[in-house]
Amino acid sequence: MTPSRADNHLEAEHQPRVLVVEDELAITDAITYAFSLEGFAVSSAANGRDGVEAARRLNPSVVILDVMLPGMSGLDVCRQIRSESDVPIIMLTARGSEADKVAGLELGADDYLTKPFSIRELVARVRAQIRRSSRTGTFSGKNEVLRGGAIELDVDAHEVRVGGKPIEIRPKEFDLLESLMRRSGRLASRETLIDEVWGVDHFGGTKTLDVHIKRLREKVEPDPGSPRHIVTVRGLGYKFVDQQ
Ligand code: CA
Repeated sequence: MTPSRADNHLEAEHQPRVLVVEDELAITDAITYAFSLEGFAVSSAANGRDGVEAARRLNPSVVILDVMLPGMSGLDVCRQIRSESDVPIIMLTARGSEADKVAGLELGADDYLTKPFSIRELVARVRAQIRRSSRTGTFSGKNEVLRGGAIELDVDAHEVRVGGKPIEIRPKEFDLLESLMRRSGRLASRETLIDEVWGVDHFGGTKTLDVHIKRLREKVEPDPGSPRHIVTVRGLGYKFVDQQ
C-alpha cells in the first residue's frame, strides 16, 4: 500500500488543507504544485483505502477525489468519507461519464469537475466549498436560524419554514435563500449569488439564477407577483428585505 505523500505538519493551524485522492501522479503533482502556490497545505493518497485513512487522520478542509481509482473506487471512498464527515468533496470524473457524476452527487459529493479540467477552475471550486462550509458552520455544530418576516431558515436542520411550517425546498434554492438572508438589507449582486450558489466559473449564465429566484418567491413570498422579501435591485441583483 502506498503511503500518503507530501504530509506537512509544519503549516499554521488556520491554513486550509486539501486532500487529493488520485492514482495518476502527474495530476496529483499538478494539483499539489498549484494549491501550494495558492497557500494551501496539500496531502495526497494514491488509492481509495489510503484516501479514507488520510481523511480521518488529517481532517482536511476539502477532499478532491478521483472516481477512477485502483481497488476501492472513488464512489466507495465518497460514501465512506461522507458517512463519517461533512467535509466538502469534489469529484473528478471522466469525460462523458454522466452516471458517475450523478452517483457521486447522490453519495454526498458537493461538486464535480470533468477531466481534463483547468487547475484554476479547481482552485476556484475548492475556495467556494471552503467559503460555503465556513459560512454554514458545517463543523461548528451551533444551531443557527436566519429570520426575516415569516421566513425562517434553519442552517443546521437544512430546513426552511414559512409561518412556522416547513416547506419543500431544493438544495440550490436553499443555498440561494441563505446567501440572500445573510445579506439581509444589503445588495446581493448577481455575480456574488452565482459564485456562492453555483461556484465561480459557472457557465449556466444568469438565466439559472432568475429561474431559481422565481421558484423561491413562489415558495416563500405571500404574493410572488409583488415580492416583499426577495426584491429585485434593477440591473444589479437582489436584496432580502426583512419585513412582515
Ligand atoms: Ca485515476
